Amino acid sequence: MLLSGYTKNVFRPECNPSFQSVHCIARLNEDVGEALPYLNAVLGGTQYLDDPPEVIFHHQGKIIKVGAREIAVNALKDEQEADRILEWLKNEINQAWESRDSITPCYTGKVKPKLIEILKLLPKTNCKKCGQPTCMAFAAQVMEGGRGPEHCPELSGENQKKLSEYLAGFDFE
Ligand code: SF4
Repeated sequence: MLLSGYTKNVFRPECNPSFQSVHCIARLNEDVGEALPYLNAVLGGTQYLDDPPEVIFHHQGKIIKVGAREIAVNALKDEQEADRILEWLKNEINQAWESRDSITPCYTGKVKPKLIEILKLLPKTNCKKCGQPTCMAFAAQVMEGGRGPEHCPELSGENQKKLSEYLAGFDFE
């Protein structure tokens, strides 16, 4: 087993202590840097950095960063959710490492939709009805998988269909 355990710290973001969700940072007992390209190949990270090694995943509305000695997870409901995600990652890291002879390591992130392609299909009126200050801000959320065409009430039927078709070519999980 590569990763035997970790020390977890769950906290509320300092910028907004009244925020409902919590963040979690886990310091890893062992260095898992060499396993990260295999983990990336298995789970399909959205971003992979070489030096220092780090892979970023978007999972159920959360951003998860796995580095050689640390895992960081944001937007958690509570400590129990942090425990579930950390245990899942620990198993995935160990499994990816143990199966590394049969996995092709991956040193790049998944291709994301292009912001400009999303923006082209939006009304570009900055009407704020989606809750965002500009269509550009909304497009950035769509690009990350946080919002979809249905969240822009001003989007015409035709462009809503085009945007749905464009986004269908990407895997946000
Ligand atoms: S609701 Fe649509 S048109 Fe209005 S700001 Fe949001 S994305 Fe732009």
